Order: sequence, then C-alpha cells, then structure tokens
Amino acid sequence: MSKIVFFSIPAHGHTNPTIPVVFELVSKGHEVWYYSFKEFQEKIEGAGAKFIPCDEFLPPISQQELNRKAGKDFAALIEMIVNTTVTLDEKVCSELREFQPDCIVSDSLCFWGKLFSKKLRIPYICSTTTFAFNQYTAKLMKRSIKEILGMITGMPRINKKMQLLRSHGYEVDSFISIIQNDNETDTIVYTTKEFQPMAETFSDRYAFVGPSIRLSPKVLGERKSKKFIYISLGTVLNQNKDFYQNCIKAFKDSGYDIMMSVGEKTDIASLGRIPKNFTVKNYVDQIAILQRADVFITHCGMNSVNESLYYGVPMVLFPIHSEQGVVADRVAELGAGIKLKRNRPKFLAKAIADVLEDQTFLQNAQKLSRNFRNAGGAVEAANVILAKINKKS
Ligand code: UDP
Repeated sequence: MSKIVFFSIPAHGHTNPTIPVVFELVSKGHEVWYYSFKEFQEKIEGAGAKFIPCDEFLPPISQQELNRKAGKDFAALIEMIVNTTVTLDEKVCSELREFQPDCIVSDSLCFWGKLFSKKLRIPYICSTTTFAFNQYTAKLMKRSIKEILGMITGMPRINKKMQLLRSHGYEVDSFISIIQNDNETDTIVYTTKEFQPMAETFSDRYAFVGPSIRLSPKVLGERKSKKFIYISLGTVLNQNKDFYQNCIKAFKDSGYDIMMSVGEKTDIASLGRIPKNFTVKNYVDQIAILQRADVFITHCGMNSVNESLYYGVPMVLFPIHSEQGVVADRVAELGAGIKLKRNRPKFLAKAIADVLEDQTFLQNAQKLSRNFRNAGGAVEAANVILAKINKKS
C-alpha cells in the first residue's frame, strides 16, 4: 500500500478532476491525504481521502479582490503563494515528516505543494487541470500591456518574498523556478495531446490522460424535441448580471429550453422576470446537464470545455481572461465551437443559431469526444502516480 498526498488551491476547476483519481487510488487500497479547503471537504471525503483543511492559513481575500487579481496582478499572486507556504510550513512539514508519503501530487498552481515536496525531498508530480504551459504556449496568452507592466513593476515585491522563502529553508533560485513547470517534471495533464496546443513541445514526462470526469449519479430525462441550451460562466468570475440578462433577452421568445447556472454569489431575483423556457440556478450538476445539452455557452474554463467535449457538446465561446482565451481559440481552431462576437442579445442568438444549423460543429465535438474517452482519464492518472512510486522503490 502506498501513501499519497494531494494539494490543491481553493477552486472547483482545479479540484474536480483530481477527485476520481483519489477515488481510484483509494479503491486500489492506497492511503490518500488531501490538503484543501472546507468548501471541498465533502467531495474529498466522498472519494475516500483524509481531508486536511488549510482555510485558516490562507490570507483573507474578498471576491472583488480575487476578480481583480485573477490572471492580472501577478506580484500579488506570488505574495499570496509565499505567505500561504510560510504560514502552512510548520504544520505541513511536521505532519508529512511523520506520515512519510511516497509521493506528493500538487496542482500546477498550488505552488506550496511543490515547495513542500522539494524541501522534504518527497517525489513530486504536477497535476495540471489547465492546458500544459511552457515558454512556447506562453506566447498564446496574449497578455495585455497592463498585465505585463504589472509583472515588471511587481518584481521588487516578488524578490522580497523569495528571500522570505529562503529564510524558511526553501532552496529557490527565482520565482520562475516555482511557477514554471519543466520537461523533467512528471506531470499529469487532464486533456489529450490532440487538444493541447503545441503538444510536441512537451517531453514524455507529460502524461496527457484526458478529462477525469466525476460520474454524475443523476440521470436527466431523454432529449426532448426542443433544443436544450446550457449557459455557465463557471465558479469564479461568474458575477456578470449584464451577460445573464442578455441571455434572457436573446432566448426568451426562442423555441429553446435554457438552463442557466449563475454562480453562488449572483442574486437570481436581481435578474428580473425569468421567462418560462428558462431554469436559472446558482449551481447545477453540470455533468448531468451536459449529457443532454445541444449547445453550451461557456466562459471556456478548461474543465467546462473538457466536460463539454467529453460529451460531444459544441460550444459558443465567451472567454473572460487570457488563459480562457487560449482554450476558446483551440476549440474554435478544431471547429467544435464559435466565439461570441460581443456580449449582446443579437450576437448570442446568432451564435446559437449558427452552431445548431451547421452540423460540422457537432461532428467535430463528437470526434474530440471519442478521442477524450479513449485517453484513460482518472484510471490512467492513478497508474501514472503508482508507476512513479514503484520506480522509486
Ligand atoms: N460546475 C458545476 N456546476 C455549476 C458550475 C460549474 O458543476 O453550476 C463545475 C464544472 O463542471 C467544472 C467546474 O465547476 O468542473 C468549473 O471549472 P472550470 O475550469 O470550467 O471553470 P472555473 O470555475 O475554474 O472558472
């Protein structure tokens, strides 16, 4: 029996794909610990791992601040990562010295997991729920001048934090060595080589296992004759009343059935009268819905797109930040969806009509679905982890 420790950031998108992997490892008799946050306790314990909360160690951050910083204020993110590592240091290092895990699997953005593994010399696997990222794919990000400037002007703050890490026994050369994954690191990527842009620039240490989808216990009824459109902006940057109201205007008199997930923090009453053909919820069982949807209007979070393609659902693409822009470009390039021209009712209506009318969007999504379903998913990810442990012993 092996002992495996997972780390992730407080985000559904970064946690969800690891849950079936934990389940798979536990089913095979291995012991799994998972350092995460209370919001995810039920999912993690449901998969059979020991859940260890880190909430009290995370610097407090409001949703507003998070929206401002996500993908923008780079120095602030580094500060947050280092502060979290330093506050967690004593607790985690003493627990892991006692537990003596065979391997740490840490999310590609959960840099403290990587830092603990290096400090304690425990084998490390990077778990990537986004596209794999290197200096070549970085060029696809089309960062704004403001973002680049922010990165440069934030350097003194970043350097100060590197000093703080060193004073706690972390051997770090630069912040690049923390945030950048390299071709020598064992890495699990939850998509396929066919979907990953510039896949040829990644070494064979990268295992492209395809989407790791949690099976939904719910089964929605049969497809009805009316087209069924699903709309969601994910779980993070989802407070966008203007967009939801434009969707209502665009489709209120259409012949479609609409399911719209608006996020936990959106007050549904504030959206005005909800038309009869709409169901609006704060959170839905997305996996169950995608098994019935004809088109998905999405913010292009990697998980949403992976899940949509897994079930062969073509998309209307409405990316919000640069990383989602890369995902949207890739879907459009492979012909499984079209980008929304502007957040306006007439463009929303036109995009949906176009995707429904031209069957090649559906066919391309179905082609990727076959590719995704043959990639191995959670079972393959668990095999990668166990193979690394067995190689060591
Ligand atoms: N999700 C869900 N119900 C919802 C909205 C989202 O189950 O109402 C899940 C979705 O299936 C996906 C995750 O939350 O696994 C969102 O991750 P993604 O990477 O798409 O976007 P993020 O929320 O990180 O922006």
